Amino acid sequence: MERTFIAIKPDGVQRGLVGTVIQRFEAKGFTLVGLKLIQVSRDLAEAHYGEHREKPFFSGLVDFITSGPVVAMVWEGKGVVAAARKMIGSTNPLQSEPGTIRGDFGIDIGRNIIHGSDAVETAQREISLWFQDNELANWSPTLSSWIY
Ligand code: ADP
Ligand code: MG
Repeated sequence: MERTFIAIKPDGVQRGLVGTVIQRFEAKGFTLVGLKLIQVSRDLAEAHYGEHREKPFFSGLVDFITSGPVVAMVWEGKGVVAAARKMIGSTNPLQSEPGTIRGDFGIDIGRNIIHGSDAVETAQREISLWFQDNELANWSPTLSSWIY
């Protein structure tokens, strides 16, 4: 089954949006298979955002992600990578549709609450960067036949 990496950034944690975000993924029908709250190291932040290393916002982004606790999660389900990106909305919250997480709760591109992997291969890379194998649960909810 497909998996994606989701992180609630320091602004989302500080603003008390952890429960709201988890609620949306649970209510959709996806399965939580990994969850931890961590203080992100500079090394991890730079590896995670490596594709943006040359961008002008890179050092500010790394400063921000390491500025407070982050909730790192792995969610599982059919089509979860693309579905999570839709639920999250566009990178700039002012351009995100209402009903998306960024559209409902954010304003600034540098404070956009949540990260979600952009492709299945990216998700695999990010999951192994953030989680050990023994931190992930292989399970499916007893009532999953009511979702699939
Ligand atoms: P996404 O998170 O939607 O995949 P990107 O991968 O393009 O977006 O960028 C990664 C993160 O970098 C964004 O979520 C945002 O926090 C930050 N970011 C992107 N563009 C800018 C920008 N122009 N100014 C400040 N921060 C930015
Ligand atoms: Mg991205």
